[in-house]
Amino acid sequence: MIFSLNKKVIICVLISIFIISACCATCFSVKLAKSPNFSYTIVIDAGHGGRDGGSVGKNGTIEKVINLKYAKALEKKLTELGYNVIMTRTNDNGLYDENAKNKKLSDMNARLKIIEKANPALVISLHMNSFPNQSAHGASTYYREGDSASETCANLIQRALNNYCDAPSIKGKPADYYMVKCSYYTSVLVECGFISNPEEEALLNSDAYQEKIIYAIYSGIQLYFGQFASSI
Ligand SMILES: [Zn+2]
Repeated sequence: MIFSLNKKVIICVLISIFIISACCATCFSVKLAKSPNFSYTIVIDAGHGGRDGGSVGKNGTIEKVINLKYAKALEKKLTELGYNVIMTRTNDNGLYDENAKNKKLSDMNARLKIIEKANPALVISLHMNSFPNQSAHGASTYYREGDSASETCANLIQRALNNYCDAPSIKGKPADYYMVKCSYYTSVLVECGFISNPEEEALLNSDAYQEKIIYAIYSGIQLYFGQFASSI
C-alpha cells in the first residue's frame, strides 16, 4: 500500500512537472516569437535639403531629391526587417535654423543632435556623387579613418555594391566627411553613384537600379549585424 501510494505520488509529481514544463515552454516560445529578431537603431541621413540642393545631374537630377528617395526606400526595407529607423529628414527641407548665419553648420549640428538622441548602432548617410570627368561612375562607401567598426560596415556594403551594382571600388575608403566623423557612432557614407555621368544618372533614376543599390546597402548592413542567414 505504502509502495503503491508512493508510486501514485511520484506519478502525480511527474505529471505536474511535465505540465508546468509544457506551460513554461509555450510561454517562452510565444515570448520569443513576439520579440523582433533584433532591435538595433539605425539613423538614415538623406544628404542636403532645403536651400542646399547638393549636386545637380547632367539631365537635371537634384541630389537632395534623389537622396531622400533612396533614404525612404532604405527606411522602408530596414523597418520591414525589424530595425528601429530614425531619419534625419523626411521632406525636402534642410535642418538648419532659418536665422542662422552659417546655415551649413546649423544643418550639420541639427543632424548630429538627431544622431546623439537616437544613440544608434549605425548611421548611414546617403549621397550622390559628382565629378567633372563625366566617365566617373559607380557607388562608393566611406568611413572615418581609424574606426574599425565603420570600416568593417563600409567594406561589407561596398562588397555588396560591387556584386550587385558593378561598382568599381574594391573597398570602402577613409574620408573626412562630416557625417562620418561628427560622432563616435559607427557611421558609413554611401555615394550611390555619379549623377554627373548621364548614363549613371539615368540608371540612378530608374526603379530597378534603385532597388539594386538599396538591396546592396541593406545586405551589407545585415551582414554587419550578423543577421544575413536568418533574415534575407
Ligand atoms: Zn552630397
